[in-house]
Amino acid sequence: MIDSNQKQVKELRVAHITDDCVSCGTCLEVCPGYAIFPGKMNDHPQVDHDLCLTDAACGDPAICMQVCPVSSFEWVPY
Ligand code: SF4
Ligand code: SF4
Repeated sequence: MIDSNQKQVKELRVAHITDDCVSCGTCLEVCPGYAIFPGKMNDHPQVDHDLCLTDAACGDPAICMQVCPVSSFEWVPY
């Protein structure tokens, strides 16, 4: 039974870069949270999940997702 006073809490999500990334660097220039960093060695850029402003603040799709030419972003639970 569901408590009528119980509100459904929306789970926050943060952006994550998948291996589809082609390291174009565009997303690094647009992130308002400065949460995206160049990859180490030959790796592609990564999102620092602790700095990502989440879908609640950035919207869906977030600006990083809008500029990515290969749709390599996904949302993951924070
Ligand atoms: S969701 Fe927003 S804060 Fe997070 S990486 Fe994308 S642009 Fe940056
Ligand atoms: S915009 Fe997309 S392809 Fe370019 S570096 Fe960012 S995640 Fe990779």
